[in-house]
Amino acid sequence: MSASQTAAGCAKAAPVLDFDAVIIGAGVSGLYQLYRLRELGLRARILETGSGVGGTWYWNRYPGARFDSESYTYAYSFSQELLEEWNWAERFAGQAETERYLNHVADKFDLRRDIQFNSRVAAASYYEETRSWDVALEDGRRYSTRFLITAIGVLSAATMPRIAGVESFRGQSFHTHYWPKEPVSFESKRVAVIGTGATAVQAITEIAKTVGQLTVFQRTPNWCAPLHNAKIGEDEMRRIRASYPEIFARCNESPGCFIHKPDRRRTHEVSPEEREAFWEKLYAEPGFGIWQGNFRDILTDRGANALISDFIARKIRQRVKDPVIAEKLIPKNHGFGTRRVPLESGYYEVYNQPNVKLVDINETPIERIIPTGIRTSDTEYEFDMIIYATGFDAITGTFDRIDIRGIDGVSLKDRWKDGPQTYLGVLIEDFPNMLMVMGPHAALGNFPRAVEYNVDWVTGLIRHARDRGVTRIEATAAGVAQWTDHVKASGEGLLFNEIDSWMTGVNRNVEGKQTRKIMRYSGGHPTFREHCDAVVAEGYRELALV
Ligand code: NAP
Repeated sequence: MSASQTAAGCAKAAPVLDFDAVIIGAGVSGLYQLYRLRELGLRARILETGSGVGGTWYWNRYPGARFDSESYTYAYSFSQELLEEWNWAERFAGQAETERYLNHVADKFDLRRDIQFNSRVAAASYYEETRSWDVALEDGRRYSTRFLITAIGVLSAATMPRIAGVESFRGQSFHTHYWPKEPVSFESKRVAVIGTGATAVQAITEIAKTVGQLTVFQRTPNWCAPLHNAKIGEDEMRRIRASYPEIFARCNESPGCFIHKPDRRRTHEVSPEEREAFWEKLYAEPGFGIWQGNFRDILTDRGANALISDFIARKIRQRVKDPVIAEKLIPKNHGFGTRRVPLESGYYEVYNQPNVKLVDINETPIERIIPTGIRTSDTEYEFDMIIYATGFDAITGTFDRIDIRGIDGVSLKDRWKDGPQTYLGVLIEDFPNMLMVMGPHAALGNFPRAVEYNVDWVTGLIRHARDRGVTRIEATAAGVAQWTDHVKASGEGLLFNEIDSWMTGVNRNVEGKQTRKIMRYSGGHPTFREHCDAVVAEGYRELALV
């Protein structure tokens, strides 16, 4: 049976397409999307840049890379058999364990035969005559497909800093995202790390264990809180396994799909003593509780936010011996939780080591990278290795790196110049048959939890189309306008939308990404799902299906 006879139904031109669906990316979302489309009997293929599965967990193999969400909340829930057979070794799995898990999933469901590795998609164009997409790889290979499904993640387009002389450095240098598969030794080496986001916080803590000398170049400190990782023993794993239904249900009820739900109380409703005791308890507990399970107003009420920020600042002062360094590590331009909170395992204590130095580049800016190291405004540092933990062109960046063309050649990059416009974070007007899993304006948070809902929704839509012989799916202008307005409204009053970070689309290393935009849905997952479910219940309202 050809692709045109399966998904294409009664398309006018009845083209013979290579595939019913091309999925870009073999990460958490792409793997699950392939599994679901196979169930529908579609001819689907994943095109993946890397040489293995895992997406984020394939690329980011820098030292210290691990979950900040509890491993057992990060697992797929769609297969009881998978839940039964997989044992998590750590409460917050490291990169190697997660990569093993995703490989296990790919093998168990025999997904590899439909995954094409070493295949970077460079361009994709929609053709109205055939109601299909033409997908071109960087190496020139091309494929035609009815549906184009992007499963490219939100943090996949790594960015180097715009610092002169990067190419001139004669030592080893790495961006954390492109960390080599071979072991890298830091012993007796003079190592520089540029950046202090969640990635750097993990990497710095790990590298500090064996490094000769470490110098951290910090532009903006972040509010970090303890991870409290631990091994999961057999008994604990048995208990976790028995409570998977409750665990997943709890995640689905929380705004971020995390196991931690906001406390119903407001910060000022309790006495200072009670507040302090609550925060001490959260600080001593594993995971994102201090951020996601805190008083419900810490991210909306400036007074509340100032109090929790003061609590965390006191913790930093207690943990860092040198008061001058402690002050440098305390954020002054944003409150706790208004940027993604990095979870740490001894990060602050690293700065008590005699072989670790913190350079505040607001005081002494980096002037350039030189062959022997880094020149700042006041000195030249010599290094054997420079590590760029400088983040990503987030959310829309990976889309921008593919030349995506819709009706009449309209460019997606141009369309989203002033910020993304989508319908439910899945569809875009003028880009028929392109479906995004975890696209801009979807709800972020605990990724696999959100992915499973998104993929199921996309799969439901494709099933609906197939069953009715529909070969063209497009969001209406009204649908896109309504959703985009709703996404903007849902972000009003939230303190994190007033702060520059990847979550608000700011990346000073990327042209045109200097101003804040509403990039994601912040109304919470339960509300997001309600909206998407209602669209289905009303016969795919605001979608043109022909
Ligand atoms: P990031 O949070 O965007 O941090 C990038 C860092 O590089 C920032 O400190 C930034 O400073 C700095 N930087 C960028 N350009 C610079 C320049 N030209 N000069 C000096 N410093 C520069 O990126 P990330 O740390 O890779 O983390 C991104 C996201 O990935 C996280 O927020 C998280 O969602 C995810 N992540 C998750 C995990 C996990 O689950 N465990 C681990 C790591 C990352 P400014 O702040 O001043 O721009």
